[in-house]
Amino acid sequence: MASKTRVDTGEFGAGGKVDVPLLQALEEVRAIARSGLAPLTAAADAGRVNRPLLEAMGEAGLLGRLFPSLGSEDSPSDVSATELCLLREAIASVDTHAETALALQGLGGYPILQAGTDEIRKRWMPAIAAGKAVAAFALSEPGAGSDAAAIEARAVRDGEGWRLYGEKSWISNAPEADVYSIFVKTAPEAGSRGVSAFALPGDRPGVSGEHIDLLAPHPIGRLVLDGVHVGPEDLLGEENKGFRVAMRTLNLFRPSVGAFAVGMARSALDAAVMHGESRVAFGAALAEQQSVSHLLAEMATRLEAARLLVYAAASAYDQRDEQEKQARLSAMAKYFATETAQFVIDGALQIHGARGLVNGGLLEHLYREVRATRIYEGATEVQRTIVARSLRKGVRPADGARD
Ligand SMILES: Cc1cc2nc3c(=O)[nH]c(=O)nc-3n(C[C@H](O)[C@H](O)[C@H](O)COP(=O)(O)OP(=O)(O)OC[C@H]3O[C@@H](n4cnc5c(N)ncnc54)[C@H](O)[C@@H]3O)c2cc1C
Repeated sequence: MASKTRVDTGEFGAGGKVDVPLLQALEEVRAIARSGLAPLTAAADAGRVNRPLLEAMGEAGLLGRLFPSLGSEDSPSDVSATELCLLREAIASVDTHAETALALQGLGGYPILQAGTDEIRKRWMPAIAAGKAVAAFALSEPGAGSDAAAIEARAVRDGEGWRLYGEKSWISNAPEADVYSIFVKTAPEAGSRGVSAFALPGDRPGVSGEHIDLLAPHPIGRLVLDGVHVGPEDLLGEENKGFRVAMRTLNLFRPSVGAFAVGMARSALDAAVMHGESRVAFGAALAEQQSVSHLLAEMATRLEAARLLVYAAASAYDQRDEQEKQARLSAMAKYFATETAQFVIDGALQIHGARGLVNGGLLEHLYREVRATRIYEGATEVQRTIVARSLRKGVRPADGARD
């Protein structure tokens, strides 16, 4: 869904780390999203994988931006978290479905890029970056969401390889994906230390699944694994070290969920500012009402704070700051930005009155779209727990100081 109005409501708060060519490139990215991608998303069912959209993003080089080291002789390296956030924010402010499709290719592709052998990377990465192979990240299960280490899907030894059994749920791009970065137990008694990761082709015998319809249409579904064969050539990283593979990808992507939320909130704020000026009530522009203008001010201020936090977290990741600091900032950024986006979008809808509720309108769309961001890749409560745990670490009250 494309945003129709746009006023400048803020600069990228990227800590001065972003060069001018990159900012110009982001203008181009927004232009591509507006003219090349939005028509493709408008023409398709947002609850299903949109292959023409992915191929268009591949051809336009947008997916290639997610995997900058592909094609070079150097060893594979991550996209900078700052660039990932800028890219996601820029596309989200124009077209949320295109943004989601891009992010899901990254989430599904990164375990392969980061942990796969040269052979696995060559098998999958060029096609993922071209938008010709649809990727997915399959960790969650009906009984294991926030508590990801509780997964029960298992890999049972079968000669040189394994047979996969179990169920995965809430998997974006399932059941249509061409390749799943999938996480299963190879040593069930060992908790998170008994998880292995595989690049599982979606057409392997024994893989089946179905779509799940959500409040806001999203390509998502459940997967059933019934004796699916995987071999050593499908393994990502070392056996029993797969949980780290999952966490490494999630650590890269977590601040960028905040950037997605900031991008959505930004287009809601733009629309609210515009509407506040153009709608006349009681003989004056709506924005003349102090309660409306103060709400706009609050929305803009919280949004700018969220943006700064997102780029602080991304910058901590890029600079390889102390792990503890990275985790704390990333958790703060993810929950503050998504909660803020919910507040901003709700405020923008309120300012629009009944118009904000019309099906197919920008605010109705964003109102439904923002909701899931507070749940996936670590719900708000889980992020707060991470922040609180980090604050308490190493703090011991002096003897006798505790009441
Ligand atoms: C749109 C969407 C896309 C998704 N895509 C993927 C995907 O591609 N791959 C994938 O593997 N998964 C995906 N998921 C699943 C997502 O990661 C899980 O939904 C998420 O981890 C939460 O798990 P759950 O839904 O089982 O909720 P639960 O773990 O049952 O938690 C329910 C609620 O309990 C509260 N809660 C949980 N734990 C705590 C705690 N420790 N302290 C305080 N409160 C707590 C929170 O409010 C939470 O929302 C997706 C989900 C959605 C909605």
